[in-house]
Order: sequence, then structure tokens, then C-alpha cells
Amino acid sequence: MRQPGQGRGMTRLLVIEDEPRLASFVVRGLSAAGYGVDVADDGRAGLTIALTGIYALVILDLNLPSLSGEAVLAELLAARPEQQVLILSARADMSDRIHFLELGAADYVTKPFHLAELKARVAARVREAGASLERHSNDGIRVDVHARSVDTGGGPVHLTDREYRLLHHLKERTGKACSREELLADVWGMWFDPGSNLVEVTIRRVRHKLGPEIIETVRGVGYRIPA
Ligand code: CA
Repeated sequence: MRQPGQGRGMTRLLVIEDEPRLASFVVRGLSAAGYGVDVADDGRAGLTIALTGIYALVILDLNLPSLSGEAVLAELLAARPEQQVLILSARADMSDRIHFLELGAADYVTKPFHLAELKARVAARVREAGASLERHSNDGIRVDVHARSVDTGGGPVHLTDREYRLLHHLKERTGKACSREELLADVWGMWFDPGSNLVEVTIRRVRHKLGPEIIETVRGVGYRIPA
């Protein structure tokens, strides 16, 4: 089966958006950029399509009929923690953005947006869907890139997109402590402190899934994977 973001054939995207003009604008723009784009105009149908297909990225509106975007996100990630989801929302508050990133969304774009920005963000997410950790396997951590699963010896464990990217960042710098600011910038694209405990919460989840010793806290500096 074709994996997202790589190989022959089209990379498939799913747009869940009930506003017909916006949906067709997004579909046309992304189709012109070379993606195969499916569309759903309500939350329940969108969730069903997302769970029956394989999509490199799901682009999700929040205010949807039949099932809210937030409920779609929660159900989708519960079933497929590795699914990348980009939220399209009219809510521009930082607290909303942080809330949905904490829930596991890979990115958050506020309406109105420029098609060029959406395309750039979609391309970045699709690239990440195919990014590799395989070359860093000298520390006993085995990673299945496409399944977004990690095995430290106890069997494969699925990670959410953020958990995976945080682990990826630390793993590429094994033995070196990484600051909270560095992780916020690289894993969440936040070049400022949003005053949230996103990093701490995600570290806690990774430790819960893979064991507390996987990531060390270096007091006053940050976090590292021990060499
Ligand atoms: Ca809507």
C-alpha cells in the first residue's frame, strides 16, 4: 500500500469543510499542487472517510454539522494516533491554537488564509509524514516511521504526531540537552513562549508510553535522551 508522502502515485488529502465555496477553493488549490483531494461536508461523514482511507493529511474545519471538528479530531486520533491533522479555523485566539495542538493536531491555520500559506504548510506536513528516524538506531530505540511507532524492547508503541516529532528531535541529538524553547520552535513551530505546558505534557505522555527513563530532565537546561 502506498505510504503518505512518498513513492509513486498521488499523495492523498482529505478536506472536511462544510462551507462549499471554501471547500472548493481549497480542493482546487491543492489539486493544482498535485495532491489527490477528497472532500466531506460534515463531521460524521468526514470521520468515516478518514478512518476508511489512507490520507497523508486531514484538513479539518472546526464548526461542522453532525459532529464538531473537535470531536472528529479526538475520535480520529484515538483510532489513528499517527494521523496528521491540520485544523482550519476562524478562531484566531492563541488559547484555541494551543488547545488543538495539545489535542494532537499537527498544525493550525486561521481563516482567512492565503492559499500559498496553506500549500506550504500542507507540503511541510506531508514531508514529515515520510520523515525518517531509521538512521539513528544506535540507542536501542527502534522506530517504524510509517506507523509512527517506537519499540524500546517491549513491543511497538504508537505515538501521536507531536510525540513522535519531539522524540525525533531529541533522538537526533542523543546525549545533548534540548531547551524547552528549542522544542517549542522545532516541534510546534512556536518561536515564542505561549505560556503553556505543551512541552511538559508531551514529555510526560512519551514517558508514560515508553518508560520514564526514555527522556531525562536536565535541571535548568531541558531534556535529553541519555547517550
Ligand atoms: Ca464550518
